[in-house]
Amino acid sequence: MSESNTRFPEMPVFEPGSVWLVGAGPGDPGLLSLLAFHALSQADDIVYDALVGDGILALAGTGAVLHHAGKRGGKPSAKQADITEKLIDLANSGRKVLRLKGGDPFVFGRGGEEALALAAAGVPFRLVPGITAAVAGLAYAGIPITDRCVNSAVTFITGHEAGGGPPEGLDWPALASGAPVLILYMALKHLAWMAERLIGAGLDPDTPVVLISKATTEDQKIVETHLSAAAADAAAAGIEAPAIVAIGDVVELRAALDPSATPQARARAVLEVRRKRDAG
Ligand code: SAH
Repeated sequence: MSESNTRFPEMPVFEPGSVWLVGAGPGDPGLLSLLAFHALSQADDIVYDALVGDGILALAGTGAVLHHAGKRGGKPSAKQADITEKLIDLANSGRKVLRLKGGDPFVFGRGGEEALALAAAGVPFRLVPGITAAVAGLAYAGIPITDRCVNSAVTFITGHEAGGGPPEGLDWPALASGAPVLILYMALKHLAWMAERLIGAGLDPDTPVVLISKATTEDQKIVETHLSAAAADAAAAGIEAPAIVAIGDVVELRAALDPSATPQARARAVLEVRRKRDAG
């Protein structure tokens, strides 16, 4: 490290012939880890997916070769086997390969599959977690994902299974009765179906819901609703992928913590939250 930058911690060497599998967070470049930032500046090749935005790719070193490996419905997408083959080939040719994924690589991100392929091929690799969309998205919306007065668990659920269908195998009664906050990834397509299952299993149709599209980016869009209206409200508001859906009483704390509200409105909302808590 140069003397002018002595406060930047010492980073591990990005070895030629290795792959770093790195989470880029949900969009805001400010949410990159220092390791992710370091990897961007050092990599020879960056294989990125559709959720990684231009603001993050702009931090790549000048000589880096960018490879798009998007996997998004409707758009042309590279096959998973082709992506892993590319990572292995690039590493074996002595390149420093950055595999950059949205959010956290191991949260519904196929990072596990890619790491297994690298391990099987004997390619050295490092895993760098990122901030997953649920955690950052809720925080940017002003919602604590846990609050000890509200929930003692959080459940992350994918809205579609490997084949693209809805998540048929889930235990809906267990989720409805034992999971106070549900966070749905990739859920827009089957949201009505999932809400129906939850309500059918006993979850209150009035349970608060927030939909957060393009979280932490300039195009972030937030809709507050309730379970029985969530799918219709998402469509009416033009909520687009990528979006997360949070279901549970923590959503109500947004009124008190919304970053876009005035301090006065927030203070009033805090009083309301406290009044409800005292009453309950
Ligand atoms: N590995 C990623 C998730 C990949 S699955 C992570 O940890 O965040 C893709 C899903 O992630 C999307 O369908 C959406 O549900 C969610 N997602 C990713 N980025 C998002 C963003 N900026 N805003 C809202 N949801 C996002």
